[in-house]
Amino acid sequence: MSIRLVFLGPPGAGKGTQSAALIARYGIPQISTGDIIRAAMRSGSELGRQVESYANAGKLVPDELVNRLVADRLAQADCESGFLLDGYPRTVAQAEALDGVLSEHGRPLDHVLLLDVADEALIERITGRRSDPETGHIYHVKFDPPPADIAGRLVQRKDDTEEILRQRLQEYGDKTAQLVPHYERAGTLRRIDGVGSPKQIEERIRLALEG
Ligand code: AMP
Repeated sequence: MSIRLVFLGPPGAGKGTQSAALIARYGIPQISTGDIIRAAMRSGSELGRQVESYANAGKLVPDELVNRLVADRLAQADCESGFLLDGYPRTVAQAEALDGVLSEHGRPLDHVLLLDVADEALIERITGRRSDPETGHIYHVKFDPPPADIAGRLVQRKDDTEEILRQRLQEYGDKTAQLVPHYERAGTLRRIDGVGSPKQIEERIRLALEG
Protein backbone atom coordinates (compact mmCIF):
# COMPACT_ATOMS: atom_id res chain seq x y z
CA MET A 1 0.00 0.00 0.00
CA SER A 2 1.31 3.43 -0.89
CA ILE A 3 0.79 6.19 1.66
CA ARG A 4 2.35 9.62 2.00
CA LEU A 5 2.23 11.06 5.50
CA VAL A 6 3.40 14.10 7.43
CA PHE A 7 3.70 14.10 11.20
CA LEU A 8 3.12 17.47 12.87
CA GLY A 9 3.24 18.21 16.56
CA PRO A 10 5.39 19.99 19.14
CA PRO A 11 8.65 18.50 20.44
CA GLY A 12 7.85 15.66 22.82
CA ALA A 13 4.36 14.99 21.42
CA GLY A 14 5.36 11.41 20.62
CA LYS A 15 6.06 11.70 16.90
CA GLY A 16 9.18 9.52 17.11
CA THR A 17 7.42 6.72 19.02
CA GLN A 18 4.40 6.72 16.74
CA SER A 19 6.54 6.99 13.62
CA ALA A 20 8.16 3.67 14.49
CA ALA A 21 4.72 2.01 14.61
CA LEU A 22 3.62 3.61 11.33
CA ILE A 23 6.68 2.68 9.30
CA ALA A 24 6.36 -0.91 10.50
CA ARG A 25 2.64 -0.98 9.64
CA TYR A 26 2.94 0.50 6.14
CA GLY A 27 6.49 -0.51 5.19
CA ILE A 28 7.44 3.06 4.29
CA PRO A 29 10.65 4.96 5.09
CA GLN A 30 10.70 7.54 7.89
CA ILE A 31 12.35 10.81 6.97
CA SER A 32 13.21 12.71 10.15
CA THR A 33 14.94 16.01 9.41
CA GLY A 34 16.00 16.18 13.08
CA ASP A 35 17.76 12.78 12.78
CA ILE A 36 19.42 13.81 9.49
CA ILE A 37 20.60 17.05 11.06
CA ARG A 38 21.97 15.32 14.20
CA ALA A 39 23.78 12.73 12.06
CA ALA A 40 25.35 15.54 9.99
CA MET A 41 26.51 17.30 13.17
CA ARG A 42 28.04 14.08 14.54
CA SER A 43 29.90 13.43 11.29
CA GLY A 44 31.29 16.99 11.23
CA SER A 45 30.26 17.41 7.56
CA GLU A 46 29.83 20.78 5.83
CA LEU A 47 26.05 20.52 6.39
CA GLY A 48 26.66 19.66 10.04
CA ARG A 49 28.75 22.79 10.52
CA GLN A 50 26.13 24.95 8.81
CA VAL A 51 23.25 23.79 11.00
CA GLU A 52 24.99 23.35 14.36
CA SER A 53 24.50 26.82 15.80
CA TYR A 54 20.75 26.74 15.06
CA ALA A 55 20.03 23.21 16.28
CA ASN A 56 22.02 23.58 19.50
CA ALA A 57 20.09 26.76 20.35
CA GLY A 58 16.68 25.21 19.61
CA LYS A 59 16.14 27.42 16.57
CA LEU A 60 14.93 26.32 13.16
CA VAL A 61 17.57 25.77 10.49
CA PRO A 62 17.05 28.00 7.38
CA ASP A 63 14.33 26.76 5.02
CA GLU A 64 16.53 26.53 1.89
CA LEU A 65 18.89 24.07 3.59
CA VAL A 66 16.18 21.76 4.89
CA ASN A 67 14.13 21.98 1.69
CA ARG A 68 17.08 20.83 -0.39
CA LEU A 69 17.84 18.02 2.00
CA VAL A 70 14.25 16.71 1.90
CA ALA A 71 13.83 17.10 -1.89
CA ASP A 72 16.99 14.98 -2.40
CA ARG A 73 15.77 12.35 0.03
CA LEU A 74 12.29 12.16 -1.57
CA ALA A 75 13.90 11.56 -4.98
CA GLN A 76 15.36 8.26 -3.74
CA ALA A 77 13.77 5.04 -4.96
CA ASP A 78 12.49 3.85 -1.56
CA CYS A 79 10.11 6.82 -1.37
CA GLU A 80 8.20 5.75 -4.48
CA SER A 81 5.82 3.63 -2.43
CA GLY A 82 5.29 6.35 0.15
CA PHE A 83 7.01 7.94 3.14
CA LEU A 84 6.53 9.43 6.56
CA LEU A 85 7.93 12.90 7.07
CA ASP A 86 8.71 13.48 10.74
CA GLY A 87 9.61 17.04 11.79
CA TYR A 88 9.19 18.50 8.29
CA PRO A 89 7.67 20.82 7.16
CA ARG A 90 7.99 23.26 10.06
CA THR A 91 7.26 26.58 8.31
CA VAL A 92 4.77 27.71 5.69
CA ALA A 93 7.66 28.18 3.22
CA GLN A 94 8.70 24.54 3.80
CA ALA A 95 5.11 23.34 3.33
CA GLU A 96 4.88 25.22 0.04
CA ALA A 97 8.23 23.81 -1.13
CA LEU A 98 7.01 20.31 -0.27
CA ASP A 99 3.71 20.83 -2.11
CA GLY A 100 5.76 21.90 -5.15
CA VAL A 101 8.08 18.87 -5.07
CA LEU A 102 5.19 16.43 -4.62
CA SER A 103 2.99 17.93 -7.31
CA GLU A 104 5.89 17.68 -9.81
CA HIS A 105 5.72 13.93 -9.27
CA GLY A 106 1.89 13.84 -9.08
CA ARG A 107 2.16 12.42 -5.55
CA PRO A 108 0.19 14.64 -3.14
CA LEU A 109 0.11 14.02 0.60
CA ASP A 110 -2.57 11.62 1.83
CA HIS A 111 -2.73 12.68 5.48
CA VAL A 112 -1.14 15.19 7.83
CA LEU A 113 -1.28 13.89 11.40
CA LEU A 114 -1.27 16.49 14.15
CA LEU A 115 -0.44 15.12 17.61
CA ASP A 116 -1.97 17.41 20.24
CA VAL A 117 -0.32 17.60 23.70
CA ALA A 118 -0.38 20.52 26.20
CA ASP A 119 2.91 22.37 26.92
CA GLU A 120 3.25 21.30 30.60
CA ALA A 121 3.17 17.61 29.65
CA LEU A 122 5.74 18.22 26.90
CA ILE A 123 8.27 19.68 29.31
CA GLU A 124 8.08 16.64 31.61
CA ARG A 125 8.28 14.22 28.66
CA ILE A 126 11.25 15.92 27.02
CA THR A 127 13.45 16.69 30.00
CA GLY A 128 13.21 13.04 31.14
CA ARG A 129 14.01 11.62 27.70
CA ARG A 130 17.23 9.56 27.35
CA SER A 131 18.46 7.47 24.43
CA ASP A 132 20.62 4.41 24.14
CA PRO A 133 23.49 5.24 21.75
CA GLU A 134 23.93 1.54 20.92
CA THR A 135 20.35 0.72 19.87
CA GLY A 136 18.75 4.14 19.35
CA HIS A 137 15.99 3.13 21.77
CA ILE A 138 14.41 6.05 23.66
CA TYR A 139 13.60 5.71 27.37
CA HIS A 140 12.08 8.09 29.91
CA VAL A 141 13.51 8.31 33.43
CA LYS A 142 10.00 8.23 34.95
CA PHE A 143 7.55 6.82 32.39
CA ASP A 144 9.75 4.17 30.76
CA PRO A 145 12.86 3.64 32.93
CA PRO A 146 15.77 1.74 31.36
CA PRO A 147 17.02 -1.63 32.69
CA ALA A 148 19.77 -1.12 35.31
CA ASP A 149 22.52 -2.70 33.16
CA ILE A 150 22.22 -0.12 30.39
CA ALA A 151 21.17 2.95 32.42
CA GLY A 152 24.80 4.06 32.68
CA ARG A 153 25.33 4.42 28.94
CA LEU A 154 22.20 6.46 28.15
CA VAL A 155 22.60 9.97 26.82
CA GLN A 156 20.43 13.07 26.75
CA ARG A 157 19.96 15.10 23.58
CA LYS A 158 21.81 18.39 23.91
CA ASP A 159 18.65 20.34 23.04
CA ASP A 160 16.42 18.44 25.52
CA THR A 161 17.16 20.78 28.45
CA GLU A 162 14.33 22.92 29.81
CA GLU A 163 15.87 26.17 28.56
CA ILE A 164 16.39 25.01 24.97
CA LEU A 165 13.06 23.23 24.98
CA ARG A 166 11.30 26.54 25.76
CA GLN A 167 12.98 28.02 22.68
CA ARG A 168 11.88 25.03 20.57
CA LEU A 169 8.29 25.37 21.83
CA GLN A 170 8.36 29.04 20.93
CA GLU A 171 9.57 28.22 17.39
CA TYR A 172 6.74 25.70 17.17
CA GLY A 173 4.12 28.22 18.33
CA ASP A 174 5.44 31.05 16.13
CA LYS A 175 6.08 29.14 12.93
CA THR A 176 4.96 25.51 12.80
CA ALA A 177 1.48 26.10 14.24
CA GLN A 178 0.74 28.14 11.11
CA LEU A 179 0.75 24.93 9.13
CA VAL A 180 -2.49 23.83 10.75
CA PRO A 181 -4.68 26.18 8.65
CA HIS A 182 -2.56 25.38 5.57
CA TYR A 183 -3.37 21.67 5.82
CA GLU A 184 -6.93 22.28 7.05
CA ARG A 185 -7.57 24.10 3.78
CA ALA A 186 -6.02 21.23 1.85
CA GLY A 187 -8.37 18.82 3.66
CA THR A 188 -5.53 16.55 4.79
CA LEU A 189 -5.26 17.49 8.49
CA ARG A 190 -6.11 14.75 11.04
CA ARG A 191 -5.99 15.83 14.69
CA ILE A 192 -4.99 13.16 17.19
CA ASP A 193 -5.19 13.47 20.98
CA GLY A 194 -1.59 12.72 22.00
CA VAL A 195 -2.31 12.09 25.70
CA GLY A 196 -2.50 8.40 26.63
CA SER A 197 -0.41 5.26 26.34
CA PRO A 198 1.56 4.69 23.11
CA LYS A 199 -0.82 1.80 22.25
CA GLN A 200 -3.92 3.99 22.72
CA ILE A 201 -2.45 6.69 20.52
CA GLU A 202 -1.42 4.15 17.89
CA GLU A 203 -5.05 2.98 17.75
CA ARG A 204 -6.35 6.57 17.40
CA ILE A 205 -3.97 7.10 14.49
CA ARG A 206 -5.04 3.84 12.85
CA LEU A 207 -8.68 4.94 13.07
CA ALA A 208 -7.88 8.37 11.64
CA LEU A 209 -6.06 6.83 8.68
CA GLU A 210 -8.20 3.81 7.97
CA GLY A 211 -11.59 4.78 9.47
P1 AMP B 1 13.70 17.51 16.02
O1 AMP B 1 14.50 16.27 16.28
O2 AMP B 1 12.67 17.31 14.94
O3 AMP B 1 13.12 18.11 17.27
O4 AMP B 1 14.72 18.58 15.41
C1 AMP B 1 15.86 19.02 16.15
C2 AMP B 1 16.38 20.34 15.58
O5 AMP B 1 16.77 20.17 14.21
C3 AMP B 1 15.37 21.48 15.56
O6 AMP B 1 15.30 22.17 16.80
C4 AMP B 1 15.93 22.36 14.45
O7 AMP B 1 17.08 23.08 14.87
C5 AMP B 1 16.40 21.33 13.44
N1 AMP B 1 15.32 20.95 12.49
C6 AMP B 1 14.74 19.72 12.35
N2 AMP B 1 13.80 19.74 11.39
C7 AMP B 1 13.76 21.00 10.92
C8 AMP B 1 12.98 21.67 9.94
N3 AMP B 1 12.04 21.02 9.23
N4 AMP B 1 13.22 23.00 9.72
C9 AMP B 1 14.16 23.67 10.40
N5 AMP B 1 14.92 23.11 11.35
C10 AMP B 1 14.73 21.78 11.62
